[in-house]
Amino acid sequence: MIRFKTLFLLILTVLSAVGSAQVKVRIFANQSPESAIFTVIEGIYEMKFSDGQILRIAKDEPVIIMKYNGRLAVKKRNTYGFICDSLLITGKTGNDSFSIRMNGSFHAKQLYSGDLQCFPDLGTLVFINICDVEKYISGVVMAEGGAGRNLEYFKTQAIIARTYMYKYFDKHNSDKYNVCDNTHCQAFNGLSSDTLLNEAALETRGIVILDKDSTLIISAFSSNCGGETASSEDVWLLKEPYLKSVADPYCHFSKNAAWQKSFSSTEWFNYLKKAGYTEVSKDLSVFNFLQKSRLTDYKSGSFIIPLRTIRTDLDLRSTFFSVYSTGDSIILKGRGYGHGVGLCQEGAMIMASKGFTYREIINFYYTGVFLSDIKNAVALP
Ligand SMILES: [Zn+2]
Ligand SMILES: [Zn+2]
Repeated sequence: MIRFKTLFLLILTVLSAVGSAQVKVRIFANQSPESAIFTVIEGIYEMKFSDGQILRIAKDEPVIIMKYNGRLAVKKRNTYGFICDSLLITGKTGNDSFSIRMNGSFHAKQLYSGDLQCFPDLGTLVFINICDVEKYISGVVMAEGGAGRNLEYFKTQAIIARTYMYKYFDKHNSDKYNVCDNTHCQAFNGLSSDTLLNEAALETRGIVILDKDSTLIISAFSSNCGGETASSEDVWLLKEPYLKSVADPYCHFSKNAAWQKSFSSTEWFNYLKKAGYTEVSKDLSVFNFLQKSRLTDYKSGSFIIPLRTIRTDLDLRSTFFSVYSTGDSIILKGRGYGHGVGLCQEGAMIMASKGFTYREIINFYYTGVFLSDIKNAVALP
């Protein structure tokens, strides 16, 4: 019964997203703003207050929105202020954009398109940007795509971001929006001004990655896999046939391909002791450990500890490392950066620069998937 209800809800939210091609993004989601300044950049905007009053905003008229006794106070230059419960600012030309800056924040003002909704909630202001899906996608790729600049690479990232957005479209359903603007969903710092990036989103409009059952995949990616991607069950205890380990010959010489970290023998010994190590030996070579291809556990004698535990505890770039003892220290020599599951961003950038298409790149990193329009996705829980 619960499964059926979830399935029904998912279909509804995905369909409504396709129909409107808009997404509701909560901006400043983890910053608890108490006031902000709204400025029209392009087009014509109108403010509609909760009591029904409507006011036009000109380009040179910044509007201050602030929290006031559990309600909103809104003030435009040279006019008296308004007190209301909620506010909707809508673009009227279809090509409208605005900037919004949180008061007292050091963040540069950010650029958005579409509409803006605002209401107070538990001591903070909620700002929801109602935005065209493809503009949102290019903004996400700008925030999360990494340093490469190549159309096929950007297309790959756009498809990954779109798949992720639709897969988790109902994550914030009870909060009156679809996604938030930080890494809880996907980072989004407003519109992208990069034309190549905007082109990538538009040219792949609506395309998502589906598994053999036509379900949206978990489009995981990391910065550099170290030459071998990780299987999802080894990292998240969640087995997905399309998130299977593949050997990656492309990322070996990229920026995040290798790392190294040293510990004194005492530091290393104390760490292992805390983790439950009880053996006694004066020979440091007992700690040596070789990882030619990805393993899941570190072993020293009969002591075993999951590599992902060590990665978290010692704040390491990856779990793909070997341990060498030398003199009085322990050296960890590692490969890659990130969890290693799914697409490898630096490998994908090299593939794109070698002339591979986004289809080939996606099919290389995700096993047995296919690309299709979002309307063909089956929303199974
Ligand atoms: Zn979120
Ligand atoms: Zn890689």
